[in-house]
Amino acid sequence: MATNISAADNTQITYTISFSEAQAHYADVEMKVSGLKQDILELKMPVWTPGSYLIREFEKNIESLSASTGGKVLAAKKNRKNIWQLNTAGITSVNVKYRVYAFEASVRTSFIDASHAFLSSPDIFIYPGNMLHASSTIHIKPYKGWASVSTSLEKVNGDPFTRYSPDFDILFDSPIEVGNQDVFGFDVGGVKYEMAMVGDGKYDKDRLTKDLPKIIEQEVAIFGENPNKHYTFIVHNAFKGGGGLEHLSSTTLGASREAYATEVGYQNFLSLAAHEHFHLWNVKRLRPIALGPFDYDNENYTTNLWIAEGFTAYYQDIIVRRTQLYSPENYLAILAEDINQLENTAGARVQTLAEASYDAWIKAYRPNENSGNTSISYYTKGSIIALLLDLEIINDSKGTSSLDDVMRYMYNEYYKTQKRGYTDTEFKQALEKFAGKNLDEFYARYINGLTPVAYNSYLAYAGYKLVNALADDNEAALGITQIPLIPRVIVATVQRGSAAWIDGINVNDEIITIDGEPVPEKGNLITGKKPGNKIEVGLIRDGLPMLLKVTLLKNTRVKYSFEELPNLTPQQFTVRRKWLTLK
Ligand SMILES: [Zn+2]
Repeated sequence: MATNISAADNTQITYTISFSEAQAHYADVEMKVSGLKQDILELKMPVWTPGSYLIREFEKNIESLSASTGGKVLAAKKNRKNIWQLNTAGITSVNVKYRVYAFEASVRTSFIDASHAFLSSPDIFIYPGNMLHASSTIHIKPYKGWASVSTSLEKVNGDPFTRYSPDFDILFDSPIEVGNQDVFGFDVGGVKYEMAMVGDGKYDKDRLTKDLPKIIEQEVAIFGENPNKHYTFIVHNAFKGGGGLEHLSSTTLGASREAYATEVGYQNFLSLAAHEHFHLWNVKRLRPIALGPFDYDNENYTTNLWIAEGFTAYYQDIIVRRTQLYSPENYLAILAEDINQLENTAGARVQTLAEASYDAWIKAYRPNENSGNTSISYYTKGSIIALLLDLEIINDSKGTSSLDDVMRYMYNEYYKTQKRGYTDTEFKQALEKFAGKNLDEFYARYINGLTPVAYNSYLAYAGYKLVNALADDNEAALGITQIPLIPRVIVATVQRGSAAWIDGINVNDEIITIDGEPVPEKGNLITGKKPGNKIEVGLIRDGLPMLLKVTLLKNTRVKYSFEELPNLTPQQFTVRRKWLTLK
């Protein structure tokens, strides 16, 4: 665990961030620490950013670090990849300067160019290692032409360019946008919301300021309170954008500039906003016990990301449904897509949900060509588990309770009352309390085991079943995907158990011919073939031509959609109404 020794009360930490070469993607950082009373001062940089479970080695972007005291140079000795050590015996203050290179455009990494700076705090701020609880003041000196700052950090004396952070957990959880973003806002139940739109996009301010409050109100209703006084949405609009990262009182979202212009694109944006905003409760406050206080030097392992992320993924769409911005049909189609995604992943027969969570650091965030065969998304399967549990609770309570009650109970009990994270057992006990039954078997099957999900048993509570449109197809499949957007057929992945897998087609093989005929650049390589047909594949592997005999197998893909059961009982109507927010 991190060393969390309290700083002396009179320690003062001030940062000044300027951008002498923003066009070359640099921030110049100066940190002053005064009131020191220690012989050794360790300066550290986090190696990861909470919410994104990968060691990113942020210290790799630091250069020209120097330290001084009263104008005299102080040697800074590196003693770990992310730690610089200063000898501060007899010294009460130090001045540290360094530069940070920031050119990775994502919601979880800093990016600077002549037009703006997005400062994702863990990769910008070096901190005194034993002073995580210390407050700090941040002065921002914008690059020429930059006019505004958007962050959830409080202003000092009303100055937007001077911000205050009560401790480093809050600083590392507060991204800062500096530039000429389009800022507008709205109020929801007395909480001030700020939208900071970075980069042009085809967004409609009026529509957003009308629809986002509806989503926020639905989320507040689940937990019973909005713990923030203000909240900031930083939105990066780009040619191709996506993803989001949650914070205590803000979020950073990625969006495609054009996406807002289509109904589907706009709905996806609302769903993403609903997801990240839901996190301000689920994971930022109601959290697995391993996720806070954070160890910023190492991986923080938890088997509960299926709750932190999967449940959030479930709510992101059911919330939009509750606002009526999705029709019930819209919503069920999205759900069917999630189910298809899970069921068409070979890794679903290999990796459990608990394992997917624990190994996020080495698998989910480090995908390779074999990931689909060996792992699942704890977002997708976690959201499906949330669906099953929601239906179970609604059915058992005859429509008087739902998964919402579990979330509210957990928030009140662990975040507000006990002021700590929950254990695996505690979350399970809360689910059992509201489901009215023991969930040992459920956990053994779906969380810690690989039992295929019995969808229809749960969907029947609401009078639905899944129907596989491909059940009666007798199509052949090779079992590969191709590298997209190139005019050649190069194998990107080989699906476990497929014809390509069994007969030895490899990733990176370039397929040239099938049965002596040149293959089409796009589309089906095996048009007209049936399962059991033997084909001869001509390919180039590592620059050498070769021929492979392949026996085609039946396509095992599924394509589920929802179908209504006949003759619904009053109980099924009750469950459906509650689940889908029907009148
Ligand atoms: Zn999330």
